[in-house]
Amino acid sequence: MEFVDLHSHSTASDGTLPPAEVVRRAKEAGVVGLALTDHDTIAGLADAAEEAGRLGVTFVPGIEISAVSPVEGGTLHILGYCIDPQNDVLREMARQLIEARDNRNPQIIAALQKLGIEITMEEAVVQAQGGVLGRPHIAALLVKKGVVKTSKQAFDEYLGTGGKAYYDKERLAPGDAIGRIRQAKGLAVLAHPVQLRTQNDAQLQQVIKDLVDLGLAGIEVIHSDHGAAEVEKYAGLADRYNLLKTGGSDFHGSNKKDINLGVANGRRVPREWMDQLLAASRK
Ligand code: AMP
Ligand code: ZN
Ligand code: FE
Ligand code: FE
Repeated sequence: MEFVDLHSHSTASDGTLPPAEVVRRAKEAGVVGLALTDHDTIAGLADAAEEAGRLGVTFVPGIEISAVSPVEGGTLHILGYCIDPQNDVLREMARQLIEARDNRNPQIIAALQKLGIEITMEEAVVQAQGGVLGRPHIAALLVKKGVVKTSKQAFDEYLGTGGKAYYDKERLAPGDAIGRIRQAKGLAVLAHPVQLRTQNDAQLQQVIKDLVDLGLAGIEVIHSDHGAAEVEKYAGLADRYNLLKTGGSDFHGSNKKDINLGVANGRRVPREWMDQLLAASRK
């Protein structure tokens, strides 16, 4: 079976490999199609597309946007696929989102300093290697400094929701995120629905129904955080609401060591899902 990976991150955001290298590794892992979906940025798409062209891998330009979660304590990420990287609405949105991060990151660093940890914004910026600075970079820095042993511990104690140095960033409303993706000729897909942390199936269905009304086109069914029960449930919901199915590893390089390209919690994403996505984008 031919398989693809429709969720990956590069050094343009919080992955550890440059965009072209992500494509090369994906090819080595045997995928026939790849989407690069960096947080809040399209800066990696041109390099990745060029390398994909060279290697004969089908490339799907993508982005991952954090939106206000309709569920308390949950995470809502929207993937945008087949977006036009030249689109002005998209570029302006990326600029705004990075500005929101520029407001948050110094607050996180200041909170860590207050806790007695020697850390500076300059170090965090270096850690991000020119990419969009996110919490995984700060987590990596805390590991490097010996403050914590693992990135997970950094999130649990300091950076995650409720952590000692937790700060939220300004987020787009779900309708704004979806709307801007659509204005950029893209398809909006609900990323890793398990992270919504809905209380029950009725609540999950309501959230999906609301997102569909806002223009959602698909659901990420296969993901590294999804077990068999989730995959089955989300596939069923995609069918019920006539949505596209997508899937991917959410590869971040060595920032998430247990995740490899081309496989998501032991599962492969069939090539047909990418083909259906591409067909929908041409309509
Ligand atoms: P940010 O974009 O700065 O909000 O950071 C988001 C990134 O942090 C995503 O790649 C998440 O997978 C990662 N992340 C969020 N929460 C956790 C957590 N509790 N443990 C490990 N990684 C996390
Ligand atoms: Zn990330
Ligand atoms: Fe995500
Ligand atoms: Fe992601």
